[in-house]
Amino acid sequence: MCTLSYPVTNSRTTIDKGHMPTIPPRAEMEQAYRRSDASYDGVFFLGVRTTGVFCRPSCGARKPRPRNVEYFATPHDALIAGYRPCKRCQPMVAIGQPPAWVGRLLAEVERDPTRRLTDAHIRSFGIDPARARRFFQKNHGMTFQAYSRSRRLGKALEQIRRGERLDDVALGYGYDSHSGFRDAFARTFGGPPGRGRATKCIKVSWIESPLGPLIAGATDESLVLLEFTERRMLETQFATLRRHFKRPIVPGENRILLQARRELGQYFAGELKKFSVPIDFPGSEFQQRVWKGLLKIPYGKTMSYEDLAGKIREPRSQRAVGHTNGLNRIAVIIPCHRVINKNGELGGYGGGLWRKQALLELERGERTY
Ligand SMILES: [Zn+2]
Repeated sequence: MCTLSYPVTNSRTTIDKGHMPTIPPRAEMEQAYRRSDASYDGVFFLGVRTTGVFCRPSCGARKPRPRNVEYFATPHDALIAGYRPCKRCQPMVAIGQPPAWVGRLLAEVERDPTRRLTDAHIRSFGIDPARARRFFQKNHGMTFQAYSRSRRLGKALEQIRRGERLDDVALGYGYDSHSGFRDAFARTFGGPPGRGRATKCIKVSWIESPLGPLIAGATDESLVLLEFTERRMLETQFATLRRHFKRPIVPGENRILLQARRELGQYFAGELKKFSVPIDFPGSEFQQRVWKGLLKIPYGKTMSYEDLAGKIREPRSQRAVGHTNGLNRIAVIIPCHRVINKNGELGGYGGGLWRKQALLELERGERTY
């Protein structure tokens, strides 16, 4: 994760986040959601882990426990994470009075999310497919087809997450052939699932943690990705991995992922201070120096961006160091969370400051899981 860590925190600083939509701090979202504050509708969305439903902040349904809530910037992110839209607050429908046909179309999808709805299907509901495309594009930044694909893919990813076999997943979820699933997967994750099982590939899987699930990627030799599941970043991160490794990215498990899962379990239990799972983090020479510098910060200690810049003999590159810190692809293990502002403030953290705080407290023995 660590997508954003900056030596200077200034709310007016404009940071290029790769045009990724951002969401407010978690505490603010929790409060907005607790109050069902409609002024936050469209600002963020939230998924309820126990029900698999995602909502807008103003939803009137019973509130789950805060730890069962996951926040998203867009409905697309929530869909990819495997959530389905709440029937009550209809988060897919733009704020205001939605056209009735949109509600009808969404209801059709939810009747069987695994089904692939063609233009002919849409027409048979008395809806013009072109109009549906335009509406979704305008209101959700994606076509209706992309919406249903995300919904199907989210379902499929849930299954992969639960460890079901890829073939069953592909066949059971509206992909009449593996190629359909491969295409959908490739569009989202940039690599065909299944292919390359025999050849070299990057396997991706989920790792549960007390701070929420992490997505992990590994070659047969080393861990190359570990991110808190701010899934909107995944496409970017996968693109970078593909560029560096030139290998397909497929859901699955391997020895390295098992080792990472085991070690993270021990880390969160406070029983492991030094990871030994092999990691690989290709990047520019400068990036490598920053990331290697991070690896030298001991467990339980912190360092300022300035000191890190000095350590790697780039005293004038604080900002670049901070930015590179934020590009770290292997959260927790490459401890970008241990870099804080000189004045002791936390600075930034792509996984959310609450996670940075929690990791530091865990390492100081002030928090147990
Ligand atoms: Zn709702």
